[in-house]
Amino acid sequence: MADSPEDTIAAIATPPGFGGVGVVRISGPNTAALARAILGRLPAPRHATYAPFLGEQGETLDDGIALFFPGPRSYTGEDTLELQGHGGPVVLDLLLSRCLALGCRAARPGEFTERAFLNGRLDLAQAEAVADLIEAGSAQAARSARRALEGALSHEVNALLDALTGLRVSVEAALDFPDEDVDILREAQVQARLADLSGRIDRLIRGAAQGALLREGLRLVIAGRPNAGKSSLLNRLVRREAAIVTHIPGTTRDVLRETVSLDGLPLHLVDTAGLRESDDPVEQEGIRRAWAEIEAADAVLLVVDDALGEGEEEAAIRARLPGHLPVICVHNKIDLTGRVPGKQGGVLYLSAQDGQGVDSLREHLKAQAGFSGGEGLFLARRRHLDALTRTAGHVATARDALAVGAGPELVAEDLRLAQETLGEITGRFSSDDLLGRIFSTFCIGK
Ligand code: GDP
Ligand code: ZN
Repeated sequence: MADSPEDTIAAIATPPGFGGVGVVRISGPNTAALARAILGRLPAPRHATYAPFLGEQGETLDDGIALFFPGPRSYTGEDTLELQGHGGPVVLDLLLSRCLALGCRAARPGEFTERAFLNGRLDLAQAEAVADLIEAGSAQAARSARRALEGALSHEVNALLDALTGLRVSVEAALDFPDEDVDILREAQVQARLADLSGRIDRLIRGAAQGALLREGLRLVIAGRPNAGKSSLLNRLVRREAAIVTHIPGTTRDVLRETVSLDGLPLHLVDTAGLRESDDPVEQEGIRRAWAEIEAADAVLLVVDDALGEGEEEAAIRARLPGHLPVICVHNKIDLTGRVPGKQGGVLYLSAQDGQGVDSLREHLKAQAGFSGGEGLFLARRRHLDALTRTAGHVATARDALAVGAGPELVAEDLRLAQETLGEITGRFSSDDLLGRIFSTFCIGK
């Protein structure tokens, strides 16, 4: 049976395992009836109500706090109920099973937030920020996700949408009143307003690019001959900054991968040490995936033993790497060669063992990523950046059309496209396919 927005959904909202408190969340039209069945009454709205949670025969399954939020002033915009019981997997399962027996459907990942979006409680960029806040891998990422959730991106996108709408109205008015003198005046005004819009979109693109970096980080491959010190360098980078645990949808963690935070910039390191030839099909598949990941990397860190310098082995590694990848050449073990740490002639000299020169590498990596850090950042996704870039393209086309004296119809059409593209960010124009892709990466119960 297909999911319906009329279904009342339920999920365990706390993470699996044991904890002090466990929460079952319920949302939908049947919530009040369900509350009466489980609690024996409907709790006062928005009040913490202590109650036993009753089973089918009136037996107590658990007891705890019930919170009832009548729609539309709830997270989802519908009637919702939160049951906070004891945080054990068995009691929570009993409680969830009771909800399902009462006619609830188990919620899909992100379905509560999806409903919040569909009911206009959040726009799409804010809904994404909810997931990003939960998955934040650093304090800075969390602060920036909060800023996006509060609307840092959405407000500016809405302001730009309003400006675009205003312009479209003026241009379309010119279509209806094609008076020559008025046209010339309007054209200069429209051109000025378009220039202003372009500037604002460019600023937003720069902000979103930083925000996307903060979310997605820099993908770095560590390559080099055996014993050059790849693992030592990885450990050195991991040790100073606390290793962070993120769950990035669709990727399984394995020994080859490590994520660290560089002043808030996530650094995804892939160690190529395991990329040897193999007859084992499972291992071959792992190697194939690792190479696929290298294809998607932003740069390669080539680790060279400074005492040996670059030789045939390094040449072979360079030949095997995809040509488009920038290579950052690092000479390691300068504690043995006595070289001065830091950057000289395109090479970074350092010692993974005693740490000298490693700070220069960190700075270099941040610069390589174009990461400026700092406050005021809002978390953004590639999707937003892509939509903004396409919007800028449509506005540029409109400006060109106007400059060469093309008819207002053409300008109006470019503005319409710009509006539609920009609206993808907040979900004003969005396909079911896009929504499915976004919400399926959420946690269950969110
Ligand atoms: P990998 O095979 O490239 O991963 O290299 P490892 O990180 O396993 O290091 C190989 C050997 O070099 C180990 O014995 C390390 O202790 C040593 N080593 C790594 N980095 C340094 C360094 O900066 N200085 C010195 N003296 N030894 C290092
Ligand atoms: Zn190693």
